[in-house]
Amino acid sequence: MTTADPLVARLAEVVGPTQVLDDPGSCAAFETDWTGRWQGRARAVVRPADTAEVAAVVTACADQGAAIVPQGGNTGLVGGSVPRDGEVVVSLTRLDDLGPVGVDAREVTVGAGATLAAVQEHAAAAGLAYGVDLAARDSATIGGTIATDAGGIRVVRYGATRAQVRRLEVVLADGRIVEGGVGDGGGPSGEPADLGSVIGSEGTLALITSARLRLLQPPRHRAVALLAVSDVAAALRAQEVIVRVAGPLEASELVQAEGLRRVVQGTGQRPPFAVTPPAAVLVEVAGADPVADRLVAAVGAAAEGDPGVLDALVGVDAADRTRLWQLREAHTEALAAAGPVVKLDVVVPLAALAGFVDGLPAIVRGAGGESCEVVVFGHLGVGDLHVNLLGVPTPWVTAVEDAVCAAVVAAGGRPDGEHGVGVQKRAWVPRSRSADEVAAMRATARAFDPAGLLNPGVRLPD
Ligand SMILES: Cc1cc2nc3c(=O)[nH]c(=O)nc-3n(C[C@H](O)[C@H](O)[C@H](O)COP(=O)(O)OP(=O)(O)OC[C@H]3O[C@@H](n4cnc5c(N)ncnc54)[C@H](O)[C@@H]3O)c2cc1C
Repeated sequence: MTTADPLVARLAEVVGPTQVLDDPGSCAAFETDWTGRWQGRARAVVRPADTAEVAAVVTACADQGAAIVPQGGNTGLVGGSVPRDGEVVVSLTRLDDLGPVGVDAREVTVGAGATLAAVQEHAAAAGLAYGVDLAARDSATIGGTIATDAGGIRVVRYGATRAQVRRLEVVLADGRIVEGGVGDGGGPSGEPADLGSVIGSEGTLALITSARLRLLQPPRHRAVALLAVSDVAAALRAQEVIVRVAGPLEASELVQAEGLRRVVQGTGQRPPFAVTPPAAVLVEVAGADPVADRLVAAVGAAAEGDPGVLDALVGVDAADRTRLWQLREAHTEALAAAGPVVKLDVVVPLAALAGFVDGLPAIVRGAGGESCEVVVFGHLGVGDLHVNLLGVPTPWVTAVEDAVCAAVVAAGGRPDGEHGVGVQKRAWVPRSRSADEVAAMRATARAFDPAGLLNPGVRLPD
């Protein structure tokens, strides 16, 4: 700690001087997001140890009218986790308690700073599982995943994070601590606080300090298939047949040729197919009984009479399943290694998905990205796609993003998918939601945070 800023001095009294950072070297990692695209200076970075310290930090900031950026693992991809204009960054990662697993109730209470991987391992040690999973699991926190309502690779089976949350403890913008249920998971009816609106609010309504999560009985058997397909339409047809024959999917993920090539290059893995297909769909089925035969039959049914299904691999043992999954999960890192990537996470109705993806290169070219490479991957089962644009000239970034978002809206979709609105999609909120919806968002924000101190500049349009 270096400055004579009275707020910083007061924060140091609350959390101890070693847990307040205000020199540029120590703050840097908290001031730049995972993509490197969004960054700003923090007034200070504060790392409280528990809920009482979070409340005292927030009270101190509120007394001075100082704005706060809540931060978890800083793996968010829309610019919402880093400061923009001298805010105090409150890092929640030290709130990483893992409560005892309630095996009969199938639930666990964990601190907001616990990582997704730590919660998954904790649940697995008690013979249960947590229904959310994503490639950033080692760093992304429970608080961050709740604040963004993260989807991830199991979303098609278990829903997004909202579906896993029973109760929340939060610190409000004035420092009060509130605990309450969420939807029907909150216990006795008539409970005063339903904190459901905090889920997906991206740090603008309250700081999440702990959560009671639903757990589930993990399936005993799993099998994964990777189908090489001619295009997205064929991927969607294959997905439909596989669901019909094999039952509900645990996951259904789309990748494209250029993404596969980069992953193979980046991981050193053998190419999965002799000829890299234009696209591929990875599906996983699971159940209490062996599922491999069911998946093989479903893949056979998908290929029969459909020239769009070009080839298929099935992985049953753990090593083969991991190898196939790596081809999908290594995408974000492999693309990031290729240079600056403009990333847009969007949701498009399944009926319009193939036309949207096929039309993307022309849309991007038309908006100034003539030489840029378009790589799409993501959660095919729910139409949530990650559009990655490599080589977009800096002056054209906004125009290209706007053109893609406009195409999403024209296709009946939403430009903010599972990653949230953040800073990146703020301007698109009024263009993809009705005026009444935006008014309701503003009214909720005013009710929770009348002074507008929590994550200003994120989620709500100006
Ligand atoms: C390789 C990779 C793969 C990814 N895959 C997926 C995916 O499949 N699905 C998906 O949805 N996302 C994915 N993401 C994005 C990211 O991991 C998620 O958005 C995640 O939920 C962010 O968690 P975090 O702890 O890192 O939050 P941060 O990045 O720190 O914060 C994200 C937002 O939440 C707010 N916030 C954080 N903690 C709290 C808190 N305790 N209380 C209140 N607000 C808080 C922040 O202010 C910010 O607005 C991926 C990211 C990477 C790098």
